[in-house]
Amino acid sequence: MHSIPEKGYWYDLAKQIKFPEQILINGEWCDAQSGKRFSTINPATGAVLASVAEADAADVDRAVASARKAFIDGRWSELPPRERGRRLIALANLIEKQREELALLESLDVGKPIRDSFHVDLPGIVRTFAWHGEAVDKVYDQIAPTDSGSIGMITREPLGVVAAVVPWNFPLEMAAWKVAPALAMGNSVILKPAEQSPLTALRLGELALEAGIPAGVLNVLPGYGPTAGKALGLHPDVDCLAFTGSTEVGKYFLQYSAQSNMKRVWLECGGKSPNIVFADCPDLDAAAEAAAIAIFFNQGEVCSAGSRLLVENSVREAFIDKVVAAGKDLQPGDPLDPATRIGAIVSDDQLQRVMGYVDTATREGARLRMGGGRLRAETGGYYMAPTIFDGVTSSMTIAQEEIFGPVLAVIGFDQEDEALQIANDSIYGLGAAVWTRNIDRAHRLAKKLRAGTVWINSYEEGDATVPFGGFKQSGFGRDKSLHAIDKYCDLKTTWIHLNAAK
Ligand code: NAD
Repeated sequence: MHSIPEKGYWYDLAKQIKFPEQILINGEWCDAQSGKRFSTINPATGAVLASVAEADAADVDRAVASARKAFIDGRWSELPPRERGRRLIALANLIEKQREELALLESLDVGKPIRDSFHVDLPGIVRTFAWHGEAVDKVYDQIAPTDSGSIGMITREPLGVVAAVVPWNFPLEMAAWKVAPALAMGNSVILKPAEQSPLTALRLGELALEAGIPAGVLNVLPGYGPTAGKALGLHPDVDCLAFTGSTEVGKYFLQYSAQSNMKRVWLECGGKSPNIVFADCPDLDAAAEAAAIAIFFNQGEVCSAGSRLLVENSVREAFIDKVVAAGKDLQPGDPLDPATRIGAIVSDDQLQRVMGYVDTATREGARLRMGGGRLRAETGGYYMAPTIFDGVTSSMTIAQEEIFGPVLAVIGFDQEDEALQIANDSIYGLGAAVWTRNIDRAHRLAKKLRAGTVWINSYEEGDATVPFGGFKQSGFGRDKSLHAIDKYCDLKTTWIHLNAAK
């Protein structure tokens, strides 16, 4: 692990940094055809960071044409897998080399602590590109066990033009989870970052060119969802739309697909993940620490955040005290100070939205145990106190809706069946955790919880080797691992008839 530079270093670097401000189409930097621009804000101060070209439908048309041309002429799609892998690994190395600049851009753009962008996001992004680069020439096709008069070949083929529409909470990491496997399989890609966080995606486009990924193979279109995002969703020449974001917008993409060309849609959407603590948990202190991090890490702006804490009533009071104590150590501070563990909420809109849930919870009768207010308003930034509500019931709004902020809903239970019923009482099914020393109970619940990932006696473990994604309205399709590769190719069957006569 690289050691992280001091706060002063980051402030000096921020003064020198040149923000990318244009659209990348066909390997060239250009303004939007409309000439429009939009401002990206530093959530730590509320100040404008950069003015970025605003892509819309006209730019989407140009990017799709460039991606299609690149796909058809084979400049990338027909390279040997080994060679595509080599260039993806070169890209991973360039990202690693630029890790300080990229970590800083991410923290400035979305308000996350530099220690997280530097120690969590960037290593994950490097590994994602390297892992897919290393994997791509180890994926074999198949010959089916047909009779001896013919050969049935089952081969993977790239889909063509893949559009990736991603959110702002882990901007470059969510992009990497889609771009790396899509490129590995030979597709051309159009990446649309969220309007709150365009900067690292644009730098990725620049580094990809430097790594030898040909012009037109990775295009980057900063812009708004209802314009650029929708145009990608409806475009008749986009073959696949890989989306990470809210369930609400995920549903739009299913409509866009149905209204256009039935493009494949992969959805990684929202969550309301239950973190279930039994009285026989092996280490209640460790579980309480993990429960606080599960909801407050990244300001609670995590799709798989442990936002519902289900605690067995016999230990509930004592356990909440421990979570409150752990939460007190997680007060927000200056994102560029490496000592800061919690940064700013991404925007004023998001802060207001989260505060709205605090009002709703209070009105519906939940008991505020900690936080609930805005902090550090004098900085101009959007900081919120880690907030814990107890006495929550499963039907309350804060137990059902994704808040996407540092607000924890604590629900008590007495029996295992009751815990399971509450845990599964959600439209979402992204993650779930169970803390118990009873191995039978752990297996029983792991099987019955309707979630894409279940952690036993831990929270939020992950790796490039392991798929990530949801059940129910948390979406479908998986990021990471070889399962991600499956999303970006089609299966072709080729029958070869053998003439038995000599
Ligand atoms: P969002 O749905 O508002 O936006 C996501 C992306 O969709 C952005 O690029 C946005 O510009 C675009 N978009 C918005 N409206 C659109 C429209 N009408 N048509 C086309 N595109 C549109 O989500 P967000 O606020 O950026 O991110 C937070 C959400 O992302 C949360 O719900 C979170 O759970 C989810 N998320 C899920 C995962 C996962 O792996 N399951 C990971 C991270 C975030």
